[in-house]
Amino acid sequence: RIVHLNGEWLPEAEAKVSIFDRGFLMGDGVYEVTSVLGGKLIDFEGHCRRLDRSLKELGMGNPHTDDEWLAIHREILNRNNIGDGLIYLQVTRGNPGDRDFAYPNPPVPQTVVLFTQSKPGIDKTPLADSGLKVISLPELRWHRRDIKTVQLLYPSMCKMAAKAAGADDAWFVEDGKVTEGTSNNAWIVKGGKIITRQLSNDLLHGITRASVIRFAKEAQMEIEERAFTIEEAQAADEAFITSAGVFVMPVVEIDGATIGDGTPGKVARRLRELYLDETRKVAL
Ligand code: PMP
Repeated sequence: RIVHLNGEWLPEAEAKVSIFDRGFLMGDGVYEVTSVLGGKLIDFEGHCRRLDRSLKELGMGNPHTDDEWLAIHREILNRNNIGDGLIYLQVTRGNPGDRDFAYPNPPVPQTVVLFTQSKPGIDKTPLADSGLKVISLPELRWHRRDIKTVQLLYPSMCKMAAKAAGADDAWFVEDGKVTEGTSNNAWIVKGGKIITRQLSNDLLHGITRASVIRFAKEAQMEIEERAFTIEEAQAADEAFITSAGVFVMPVVEIDGATIGDGTPGKVARRLRELYLDETRKVAL
């Protein structure tokens, strides 16, 4: 792969970052993942807006304008011949030259990294026809989950625990209610109502989530933004997750309980189609 590092295009083996980089030592960085279909960026403006917000919340500037980010994203696709896949982008507070809890003052140049992951046919994965199994695990992350930081150890641990339990993923539960999945937003459908947790610092403000809500409302489907319990999810007609990596992905089992008839539900399948159709129309 050809990757992007601080304005340079390099073979991945030559892209090196300092051991003093705060992203490495402190998890002091933010990221975005944008999906690519047919060589075009899906929901790109949303990812730009959230990147800007994450940086602001951590007192960092944005090293590029939206137009510059778009040009970099397009160039990395061209350089790597990506049709379908993902673009990963990370910005850290950079390399102050030593380890210190305090942010460098004055600030040092940020570290900017982008790389691609080629995933041909990412929109046609058979997983969407079989659905996922999830387990619930306690929510033990910090309380600023609205900032998309690279501090992903707990979600990684939970992904491993899910796999060890024969499941695909985990949903986090705090004060009896589901916050979100390890790397996705959690949804249920009951009696025609589409339910997902309201936005707050307790969860990431998913870009796919926002688009799905918009498309569902435009299609006269009923959306309720509120928290729900695992028991309510287990008794729901349908369940699904959303993220840039999987779009809309049905969930057919939660903590061993079958959801609906154990196959992807109508609403989830409709929303998946809607999301893919509508975002493709305006992809950049
Ligand atoms: N929640 C978490 C914790 C995530 O890591 C992600 C994936 N980035 C999401 C939700 C979904 O967000 P998006 O739709 O913007 O990919």
